[in-house]
Amino acid sequence: MESREEYITNHAHEKISINPEWSEPKYTCPKCGGDVRKNLVTVFTSYPPKYLYRCDECDYEEYMEI
Ligand SMILES: [Zn+2]
Repeated sequence: MESREEYITNHAHEKISINPEWSEPKYTCPKCGGDVRKNLVTVFTSYPPKYLYRCDECDYEEYMEI
């Protein structure tokens, strides 16, 4: 168990790295092997709705219903 001070020191940077617009990595990019994340904000109002996925490493993007 960390002390209160250790907790603050060790975890202070995590708040900065959290980007609510993008999910945690969902799958491996088919182009470069990087991490592909789901955009949690942009939903295309097609039927059914589609979500935007984008690779961290390259410009790979795709839209999926899940
Ligand atoms: Zn990629």
